Amino acid sequence: MSFVFSFLGACLGIIAAIFIIIMIIFIKVRSMVGPVNFKELIKAAKNVKNIERQEYMREKNVSGMTKVLEPAILRDFNDFNKDFLFSKVEKNLLKIFNAIEEKNVEEIRKDNDLIYMYSTIRDKVQDLKNNNVNIKYDDVIFHRHAIKDYLKSAGKATVTLSTTLEYYYSDDSDKSKNKKFSDLKRQTRYTTQFVYVYDETKFKYNQMAHTISCPNCGAPLGKLGEGNCQYCGTYIKPINLKGWYMVSYSEDYK
Ligand SMILES: [Zn+2]
Repeated sequence: MSFVFSFLGACLGIIAAIFIIIMIIFIKVRSMVGPVNFKELIKAAKNVKNIERQEYMREKNVSGMTKVLEPAILRDFNDFNKDFLFSKVEKNLLKIFNAIEEKNVEEIRKDNDLIYMYSTIRDKVQDLKNNNVNIKYDDVIFHRHAIKDYLKSAGKATVTLSTTLEYYYSDDSDKSKNKKFSDLKRQTRYTTQFVYVYDETKFKYNQMAHTISCPNCGAPLGKLGEGNCQYCGTYIKPINLKGWYMVSYSEDYK
C-alpha cells in the first residue's frame, strides 16, 4: 500500500513541477511581450492568412525559355509550331479535368491525342472512385504558355511546357488551404510534356517510359499500335507516331 502511495506522490510531484515551469515561462513571456504586443502577435497571425490568400489568387509567371528553345526545336523539326502545341495543352488539360470531375475515362480512352495519357487518367479516376472523392475545376481560364525544356535522344524528342491558368477548385477530401480557399479563384501553373518519336529503329521499346494501353481492355501494348491486342484481340489502329503526344502533366503549386 505504501508503495502505491509513494508512487502516486512521485507522479503528483512531477506534474506539479511541470505546472510550475509552465507558469514561470508564461509569466516571463507576458512580461516581455506585454498586452499590447500580444494583440500585435494575433494581428500578425491573421496577416499570414491574408498573405496566403493573396498568394492563392496571385497570377503566376510562366517558367520557360521560349526564345532560346524554339529555334533549337525548329532546327530538328522544321514544321514545329509552338502555338499548335500550346493549344493542345489547353484542349488536353480541359479533357483531363473533365474526366476527373465526371470520374469517367470513356472520352480519354477514345481520344487519339491522349494515347500516352489514358492509363494514368484511368488509374487516377479509379482512385477517386475507390475513395469516393469529388474534384471540381470551374471556370478554367488559360493565361500564358512557354517552352521550358527540350531534349532529343535515342529516337525521341521531348518538349516540356509551362502553362499558367486559373480556376475555382474544390476537392472534398482536402482538409488543407485548398479547401479553405474554395470560394477564391485559384491561380496556378502546370508543367506538361510532349513526346515525338522520330526514329522507331533507334527507339527501344524496353526503354520506353510511356506505355500505350489497349483502348478496349486497358492492357499495355507491347508494340506501338500494330495488329491486335495480345490480351483481348481487339484490332489496334496503327498510330501515327510522327506527331507530338502528351505524356505527362503536373501542377507546380500544391
Ligand atoms: Zn485489349
